[in-house]
Amino acid sequence: MKKRQFLKLSGILGAGVVVAPFMACSDTAKPAENAPETPEVPAEMAAATMFTLPELGYAFDALAPNIDAMTMEIHHGKHHAGYVRKLNAALESAPQFGGMTLAEILGAVTDEDTGVRNNGGGHFNHSMYWKTISPSEANAPTGALLEAITAAFGSVEAFSEAFFKAAKTRFGSGWAWLSKDDAGKLFISSTPNQDNPMMTNVVEQAGTPILGIDVWEHAYYLNYQNKRGDYITAFMELINWDEVSANFMA
Ligand code: MN
Repeated sequence: MKKRQFLKLSGILGAGVVVAPFMACSDTAKPAENAPETPEVPAEMAAATMFTLPELGYAFDALAPNIDAMTMEIHHGKHHAGYVRKLNAALESAPQFGGMTLAEILGAVTDEDTGVRNNGGGHFNHSMYWKTISPSEANAPTGALLEAITAAFGSVEAFSEAFFKAAKTRFGSGWAWLSKDDAGKLFISSTPNQDNPMMTNVVEQAGTPILGIDVWEHAYYLNYQNKRGDYITAFMELINWDEVSANFMA
């Protein structure tokens, strides 16, 4: 609910009525359907502007000591929430993306769509990040994914070295990725900022990401400071290969 509408509703309810405080700070509220001052918005466009912050799926401290609780809380509750909020705001003035899924939006952005590109990427990338790491027992690639990794890199160890290197050498803020191309072949790449391999108009190598590591300093600096390599190693111990495999098979 927009603040303006909230205030209006409060006025209708009258003085003395206690309104639950969560109403004022909801990050995911949809525009009020009966708000007369809201311009008519096509239904398909409104749908695309209501992206919401997904649940983390585990406690903030569940990945400690590899990733500490405060980093997780700020990363999810402030950084990711901010990308969602700014994506929704950017889409309000970008009707060309109306009715698209997030994947379709990323496939369509160009270097002119700065707000949608940065925040749509931020939303997608973090949503994948939370799910491809897990507090459960470490596992390993199996089945078709193991075969594809072996075919592309020679071995799991060789993949790990190449993925580590891509993450370590990304200059400044960005991500390293394991993706599959149109032929189903795996490749490793890295992107600046919140770009990702689905952004076919802006990346060097396009594909479908199945695993990504955030190497922005906000992902590790509280615990690891300048030691990005230690964070990458700790991240790789947390990889949920069942989830990566599901992404690969999708
Ligand atoms: Mn991040």
